[in-house]
Amino acid sequence: MNLLFIPAAIGTLLGLKRTCPKCKRNQVVPASKRRERVRCKFCGADIPPRK
Ligand SMILES: [Zn+2]
Repeated sequence: MNLLFIPAAIGTLLGLKRTCPKCKRNQVVPASKRRERVRCKFCGADIPPRK
């Protein structure tokens, strides 16, 4: 069990994980941005919040 795995698991549970519609890569957004549009850190595309 890797302790570094825990934050990622929590992010998934809280719905903070998003898949970029453009490059299809997964990333975890800050909790404060959960309901906001965020910018993909890989390609710069806007990722809308999950409904
Ligand atoms: Zn992207």
